[in-house]
Amino acid sequence: MSFQKELDAALLAVRKASKLCSSAQFKLVTSDTLQKKDRSPVTIADFGSQAVVSSILAAQFSDDPLVGEEDADALRENAEMRDKVFELVREQLADLTQEEMLRAISRGNSEPDYNGRYWTVDPIDGTKGFLRKEQYSVALALIENGDIKLGVLGCPNLPLDFDAPEKGAGCIVYAVKDEGAFMCDMDGGHVVPIHVDDNDDSAKARFAESVETTHSAHSVHARISAALGITAQPLRMDSQCKYAAVARGDVSIYLRFPKDDVYMEKIWDHAAGAIVVREAGGAVTDVFGKPLDFTRGRTLSENRGVVATNGIFHDQIINVIAHL
Ligand code: AMP
Ligand code: MG
Repeated sequence: MSFQKELDAALLAVRKASKLCSSAQFKLVTSDTLQKKDRSPVTIADFGSQAVVSSILAAQFSDDPLVGEEDADALRENAEMRDKVFELVREQLADLTQEEMLRAISRGNSEPDYNGRYWTVDPIDGTKGFLRKEQYSVALALIENGDIKLGVLGCPNLPLDFDAPEKGAGCIVYAVKDEGAFMCDMDGGHVVPIHVDDNDDSAKARFAESVETTHSAHSVHARISAALGITAQPLRMDSQCKYAAVARGDVSIYLRFPKDDVYMEKIWDHAAGAIVVREAGGAVTDVFGKPLDFTRGRTLSENRGVVATNGIFHDQIINVIAHL
């Protein structure tokens, strides 16, 4: 398989970062933090997750730039928080020193040539879901010349089967360009291929959207789904778990219609999810049907919103949007 070495490193990185996040969620998110809307648990886990991903990638791909959200400056100035992050990171990478941890986090701050080769990471995508103890993901992707080559999504709380919660939760979904999409457990075992659904009756379709009403226009989604004759309630979930849900055939559609003309989608919020859906047989574009352009920098500045589908409904949805 092409990119095998990169895939192995990315899977290990996301596995360990996901474990760190689960541990942090278990230890740090209390009903007290939920009540006070105290964001420190997510900040600590965010730094820790980026440190783990960055260290594991750097061990094998030290020349590859990594684009992430976090910078270590704030941690250098806050010893108490730094110690908490370090404690979590050491559970995953026992030999790392504090200085190496800080350097690893700052490596994620690079400004690469976006037309070349770079990795992008969202150490905790869906921070609101993380705090609510619902859905979040660790998202990592490799991009070369604007083309997503691989993507790995760690989804520690995603039910394996939405219709059978007793089957448990937590999976990693991943894809390499032209090699298909797969799902495995949080330890890398039980690998199975995944595929979008083959539903071609839009009246029977279900769609996913964000929980947060500020992240996309739910009212527009309602108009789009009404035009398609969709009757099922939307599946509301935080993070790129929505892409995983399309890729596994849990839903046929993921809608992310922008709330305003100002916000630009971030590359790390979409790269891993987009390749997973495409390799599972689906389609991903912006709301105008344009391919997502990962050569423009930290944002998808040439695009507006996102539509991900099983492929069958894609053109129909883009057409409905064009006539809204
Ligand atoms: P979701 O969990 O799908 O709602 O998306 C979470 C992501 O939304 C975060 O990682 C943010 O980068 C991103 N985000 C923040 N503000 C906005 C906004 N106004 N519109 C769209 N996405 C946003
Ligand atoms: Mg995010």
